[in-house]
Amino acid sequence: MNTNVWKVDKYVDNLENNPQVVDAANFLRENELVALPTETVYGLGGNAESDEAVAKIFAAKGRPGDNPLIIHIAERQQLNRFVTEVPPSAAKLMDAFWPGPLTIIFKKKEGALSEKATAGLETVAVRMPDHPVALALLKTCGLPIAAPSANSSGKPSPTKAEHVLDDLNGKIAGVLDGGATGVGVESTVIDCTGTLPVILRPGGVTKEQLEEVIGKVWEDAALKDQSARPKSPGMKYTHYAPNAPLFMVSGTREFLQTLVEEKRGEGLRVGVLTTEENESFYEAELVLACGRRAEIETVAASLYDTLRSFNQGKVDIIFSEIFPNEGVGHAIMNRLEKAAGHKLISE
Ligand code: AMP
Ligand code: MG
Repeated sequence: MNTNVWKVDKYVDNLENNPQVVDAANFLRENELVALPTETVYGLGGNAESDEAVAKIFAAKGRPGDNPLIIHIAERQQLNRFVTEVPPSAAKLMDAFWPGPLTIIFKKKEGALSEKATAGLETVAVRMPDHPVALALLKTCGLPIAAPSANSSGKPSPTKAEHVLDDLNGKIAGVLDGGATGVGVESTVIDCTGTLPVILRPGGVTKEQLEEVIGKVWEDAALKDQSARPKSPGMKYTHYAPNAPLFMVSGTREFLQTLVEEKRGEGLRVGVLTTEENESFYEAELVLACGRRAEIETVAASLYDTLRSFNQGKVDIIFSEIFPNEGVGHAIMNRLEKAAGHKLISE
């Protein structure tokens, strides 16, 4: 299959009538797949009402069928078609954070969406992305769009159109190239179907921000305890892994450098994941800075790009600095732990 690359300037007016967006929307209506930029990462979009389109998403990504997809909408009223109720906490969260990097779990109306999209669950995950190109595409096609991250399952999520093509070229109808994405880690997932709101996945909106709007928010036990069964099916899978084994290192940069020396002594090519503050300190085959530690949002924005870049550098092993587990750092550490398969070396 030929994969179209539609370059779109996200700052132009009237994106809904942009010929590239219209082209992409037509493919979606024909149940083909289109990758789209969002403010978090690139998504792989398909018609959420169609079993055919949703089956193509799972096949293109190699995604396990028990991992449900997030449904993307452009207008709140679209919810009425496939959600049974909007609890007051969810309404407040939508007012405060939509469009934006917050996914909300609702009780679903039977038969309104492809069963495959929700992996047969009684609930559905929904979000409204805050990206002009994504919103224009969603409005133009008029459909609820199922869109997981546009990467092969297990690889780091794509934050640039080139990353999408690295994984999915020839497997999808096209990608709308709207430049690099902003937040860089996926949306926060919050379950509002029970008596208490529960975070299932940390992401772009922090726990503190949520609590300012709806009061006390809980966290799924599996986020702290690896032996607990996560309420969000996708959280049990290893994700985001570069090709070489990655180890998180807790300790000083001097300690990390001694680990590097040890492995170089064994003849291995070593990579170091650090930030701009420490970039010139390390000596290794490939030292990559992932944003600035002092501005933690910049780390989130470039984490996946950096993880992917290690694959080009042909290293045998990677050591990574760690980050404070709070605010956006909580989402960064959650992704880093998955990329490292929880391997941590402490000083
Ligand atoms: P991704 O599409 O890769 O960003 O992942 C979507 C995340 O949302 C995965 O962790 C899914 O398991 C989770 N998710 C989607 N739908 C539901 C649902 N109905 N209940 C709980 N988690 C969900
Ligand atoms: Mg993903």
